[in-house]
Amino acid sequence: MAQTAEKTFFGHPRALFTLFFTEMWERFSFYGMRALLVLYMAQYLFIEADKGKDVWGYGFLKSGIESTFGPVSAQALSSHIYGLYMGLVYFTPFFGGIIADRYWGKRRSVYVGGILMAIGHFLMAIESMFFLALLFIIAGNGFFKPNISTQVGELYPAGDKRRDGAFTLFYMGINLGAFFSPLVCGTLGQKVGWHWGFGAAGIGMLAGLVIYHFGGKHLPSSEHKVSVKEVEAAAKKPLTKNEWKRTWALTFMCAITIFFWGVYEQQGNTLQLFADQSTDWNFFGWEMPSTWYQSFNPFIIFIFAPILDRAWAWQSRKGKENTTAMKMAIGCFLGTAALIVMFMAAQSVGDGKGTALWLLGSTFMLTIGELYLSPIGLSLVTKVSPTKIVSMMMGVWFLASFFGNTVSGWIGALYDKMPKDNFFLLLAALGFVPGVMFFICNKVLTNSLNADDEGPEPKHTGRSSSGIGPHAEVTV
Ligand code: GLU
Ligand code: ASP
Repeated sequence: MAQTAEKTFFGHPRALFTLFFTEMWERFSFYGMRALLVLYMAQYLFIEADKGKDVWGYGFLKSGIESTFGPVSAQALSSHIYGLYMGLVYFTPFFGGIIADRYWGKRRSVYVGGILMAIGHFLMAIESMFFLALLFIIAGNGFFKPNISTQVGELYPAGDKRRDGAFTLFYMGINLGAFFSPLVCGTLGQKVGWHWGFGAAGIGMLAGLVIYHFGGKHLPSSEHKVSVKEVEAAAKKPLTKNEWKRTWALTFMCAITIFFWGVYEQQGNTLQLFADQSTDWNFFGWEMPSTWYQSFNPFIIFIFAPILDRAWAWQSRKGKENTTAMKMAIGCFLGTAALIVMFMAAQSVGDGKGTALWLLGSTFMLTIGELYLSPIGLSLVTKVSPTKIVSMMMGVWFLASFFGNTVSGWIGALYDKMPKDNFFLLLAALGFVPGVMFFICNKVLTNSLNADDEGPEPKHTGRSSSGIGPHAEVTV
């Protein structure tokens, strides 16, 4: 099943190289489009649609949202649609995971997903097809995202020390794509024309597919040969008691992270608006496009993921490493602190424009919080999930982002209705809740995640939860 002999990519199998760059390009397309999305809707498309421009499905969606939430401005509507879109994008991986586990296998699913997403990005060029384009991306991501992620875990046999490091590297790939895309697509969209930005996103997705195709020979051979029948046969074996225990603990943890994502996803929504409307990006006479703000988070990840990883390895050598649940608690508390900074920013800025340091400081904290929660979660899923439902469980992990994003859309719609300082305080409170829950449930969760007849991973071996390279070891 695993192909661990070749070591050519930072001590990892070459297949990780293929997965790293495939996902880097896919995320380039995804985040390039996201950088423009809210501005495109709130400042252009919905305003034109209100004046009578034909956008297929607009009237239907607007009246549906207004019947629940009352009359909405273009900003509020775009926040709802943004939340719904970002939510649904993470809803479909659950089904994409099931289909891969039971019928198609991971490789086929990744191809289907990538092609659907590319079609979606190119459809964005046709203004009337806006909502159809979103639907294509939503469906495509469902097949693509869980199955590319579980393929990373599949490269390593149970107990392989490199698994967590692989996910940290993979997460850096995600964020390399996420870093460049607002710079490319955001700039093209804001300076040249919306469609140029969206078109560049489509080209990024195609680049990812090409890399996946030509680098495919490095992927585990089981994935090349596995037949639909074999996948189906494996899906029929029942789970053991301990497998159920781990699965439930993991599901519970996914549920807690919903609150974190609800806060986190404001980055593409209200925090982007704060960047656009309330932040002064003038540096020595040069005006930075506000969408570049969204490159800051992935930039921090790229720099700090390896640093944090070393810090955890150092802690673990001293026997002081936190469990996964505890790390996730820390992540949530950092998110809370980030929003308290925004509370102070809103108070100091008022209706004018304030220094970019507020937003940058806050995003820095939120991002370190993310590193304490997100790559660790991906790795945990592939570590503790029973093999035959691993893609579905990856879907469950992303399902938390679905609920979180939906909540973030609802809350985001309050942005122009309430004082901004109170708005950010509300978000800070929302981030605090999951932190406390992880903190309280730490022991119980850790024991359940370790439940196995032979042990999915050795317990507290003093290894890092997210180590890059061979020094990394595992602890849940
Ligand atoms: N930003 C990460 C990614 O795109 C995580 C997103 C999430 O899980 O919601 O892979
Ligand atoms: N940090 C996010 C993720 O890891 C990317 C972003 O929001 O730009 O993919």
